[in-house]
Amino acid sequence: MTDAAFTPQKNTIQAVYYDGKNATAYPVAIKLSAPDLTFSLLASTDGLNARIHTYPIQDCTLDAPLGQGPRNIQLPDGGLIEIATTPEHRAYLLQQWPQAQGWQPRLHCAFQSSLHWMETHWSTVCIALIGISLSLLWAIKVGIPQVSERLAANLPPAVERRLGEHILNTLNQPALGYFADSQVPASQQQAIQRSLLDFCQQNNCPPHLLLFKASQALGANAIAIPGGTIIVTDGLVNLASSPTEVVAILAHEMAHLKHQHGLRQVLQTSLSGLVLLVLTGDVSSIAAGLPTLLVNMQYSRAFEAEADSDALVQLRKACIPPRLFADMLARLAAKQSGDAPVPELLASHPDTLKRMQPFLKTAPTCHS
Ligand SMILES: [Zn+2]
Repeated sequence: MTDAAFTPQKNTIQAVYYDGKNATAYPVAIKLSAPDLTFSLLASTDGLNARIHTYPIQDCTLDAPLGQGPRNIQLPDGGLIEIATTPEHRAYLLQQWPQAQGWQPRLHCAFQSSLHWMETHWSTVCIALIGISLSLLWAIKVGIPQVSERLAANLPPAVERRLGEHILNTLNQPALGYFADSQVPASQQQAIQRSLLDFCQQNNCPPHLLLFKASQALGANAIAIPGGTIIVTDGLVNLASSPTEVVAILAHEMAHLKHQHGLRQVLQTSLSGLVLLVLTGDVSSIAAGLPTLLVNMQYSRAFEAEADSDALVQLRKACIPPRLFADMLARLAAKQSGDAPVPELLASHPDTLKRMQPFLKTAPTCHS
């Protein structure tokens, strides 16, 4: 950059200059004449002297036009020149810039013209918007779930366990008030554990740890945490009339563990957040949403349907009447009122009656 006397003359256009250090806009006259871009202030200011500022054009970048918006020239020292898009200015830039940069004027003009044509016609803008919306919809409905499933299957088990520990630690925080010590008698807990063991002897259960917790916030509920922990609340145990009825619900939770639904749900939500981040650049809303996601995680309908169909098969294999699961669902649904928490088992299934049907229709198939 050099300083010298400067007199606005023909072959210049007026623009606005930002020095890249503060937000002050300086009106300037610029001139493009290979190999240099020169400009000087149109009025003297405290911050900058009325001097010629000279930059090699090869070191400057002319931003692509966006609709009828102003064109920007990025300067190598972080400064920026903003040129209002008038027909004269557009013609000046199209004439001077390609020559200074050594471009092929015809090619450049054709490319710029077609871009500009697309940006200034509603039809092409609408087609682009529809295309982006459909791509986004496909990514969220199909692409991201498939990627999450593959990712979950290939992640080291330690990662899933660590995620589960994080969720458990969050839920165990006394300030949140989710859990208290279970009041279910030890003998009753052992009976349920034994019943689950019998179930798993007939089915290939994933590694798991069954925990009993009292929870006012969660009510009658069972939760499968990524990594293998299943939490059963006292409310759910009290709703059951036998250990086998609790196991009927645990068959559903076991399917969530087996298919890594928890990890996949976290991955799906995180990847969707990343897509939104790319589109909006809003990091804060995604970061703020993560703790809420971990605590209030609900499975998608597809995951619930998969867990139900797995539970149905496995209950039959273990000779447990599938209708026990339907009975428990009916009792859970009947227990729901106004402010009562909606258990995970019901959260994604507004139509509980329809969901109960396969379990009511199917008789147990004993293996011996
Ligand atoms: Zn579920």
